[in-house]
Amino acid sequence: MASYKTETKLTQIGNGFDELGAVNAPIYLSTAYKHQGIGISKGYDYTRTGNPTRSILEKAIADIEGGQEGFACSSGMSAIQLVFSLFSSGDHIIASRDLYGGTFRLFEILKNQYHLSFSYWDGENPDDLANLVCPETKAIFIETPTNPLMHEVDLSEISGIAKRNELLLIVDNTFYTPVLQRPIEHGADIVIHSATKYLAGHNDVLAGLVVSNQTKITERLRLYHNSCGVVLGPFDSWLVIRGLKTLALRMRQHQDNARRIADYLEKQPLVSRVLYPGKGGMLSFELASPKQVEPFLTALRLITFAESLGGVESLITYPATQTHADIPEALRLEYGLSNALLRLSTGIEHPDDLIDDLKQAFQKLKRGVAAHE
Ligand SMILES: *Cc1c(COP(=O)(O)O)cnc(C)c1O
Repeated sequence: MASYKTETKLTQIGNGFDELGAVNAPIYLSTAYKHQGIGISKGYDYTRTGNPTRSILEKAIADIEGGQEGFACSSGMSAIQLVFSLFSSGDHIIASRDLYGGTFRLFEILKNQYHLSFSYWDGENPDDLANLVCPETKAIFIETPTNPLMHEVDLSEISGIAKRNELLLIVDNTFYTPVLQRPIEHGADIVIHSATKYLAGHNDVLAGLVVSNQTKITERLRLYHNSCGVVLGPFDSWLVIRGLKTLALRMRQHQDNARRIADYLEKQPLVSRVLYPGKGGMLSFELASPKQVEPFLTALRLITFAESLGGVESLITYPATQTHADIPEALRLEYGLSNALLRLSTGIEHPDDLIDDLKQAFQKLKRGVAAHE
C-alpha cells in the first residue's frame, strides 16, 4: 500500500487479507500449520516463527514507518531487549539522558550483567553527543520528545553523526507515533514502539513493535525474534491492529486537547513550568512545591492518576515515584526531573471537561495553601 497516505494505510490494515474477503483481520489461534509434503509450506509452520494475524500487524507497521520489516513483541521492553540482542559484551551505546525509566533500568542490567557500556546525552548540543563517540560505540538510542521533559531532538542532525561514525541510530517513537514523526525518513535504522501506548490506544493491551531498515540487521532481528520467542500473541496483535485503525483520528484530538491544556496551564499561577513541544498529546508541568503533588492528584475527579500514556482516557503520572522511580533521585534532580513534576497524557475527552477538572483541583489546592498560611 506504498502509495496511500498514512491515515488510509492505518484504516485499511487487514482488510481483504483472507480469501473470503473479511474486512476485519482474522485472528489465527492455531499454533501449528499442516504441510502438504516435506519442505512444503504455505508460509506458516509454527506460531512463534510466524503467525498470520501477527504478520498483518508487522507488515503494516513496517509500511507505515517506511522500513523493511516489522517485528511484533510481547511488550515495549521486550522490543528494546530484542534490539539490544544485536550487541555484545564490550559494546558502547550512547542514549538520551531523559529516558523512560524502564529503559534505563534495562540498560543498568545490560551494563552490570552483560558488560555493555552506556553514555548519556542531555539532548541539547549535538556536538556533545559526537564527543561521546569512542571506538567501542555501536549505536545511538534516542527518545524524542524526551520523557518526561518533552525535549525535541533533531533526528536528521543525529543521523548525520550516526552515519559519519558508522553507528546504528535507534529511535523510540512511542510518544509521537508515525502519524507525527517517521524516524526512518530522517535516517534512523531501527524504530521501536511501546504499542501499549498510542498505537493500541485503549489501555487494554501490552505490546511492542520494532521496525528495521537495514538488511543485515533485519536478518539478525528475525533470527533473535524467533529464537528468543519475544513475540506478540494473535489476540493481542488483533487488539493493536484494531487500535491502529483510528490512530490518526485519535492523535488529532490528543494534540488539540494537549495544546489547549498547555495554554491553560501557562496562565495558571500555581504552575511554575509547562513543558510541551507544541506537538502530540503528552505534556509535563511543575507545581511550585513537591508538597502540592499529592493534594493535587487526589483532588482530580476526571483525570485518572495512573501509570501509562497514550490511551483514550486522560492519565496523570508522577514520574518521581512511578515511571522514573528506578532512576536515582540525585541523577533525576540534576537533569531537571524534579519531585514537583507531573506528566499528563491527554485523552480524547472534551477539552472543556479536562480543563474544568484541572481548575477545580487548583482551586482546592489554593484553599489548602491558604489554610496553611
Ligand atoms: C511504556 C514505554 C516503554 C515500555 O513499553 P511497555 O509496553 O510498557 O513494555 C518504552 N518506551 C517508552 C517511551 C514508553 O513510554
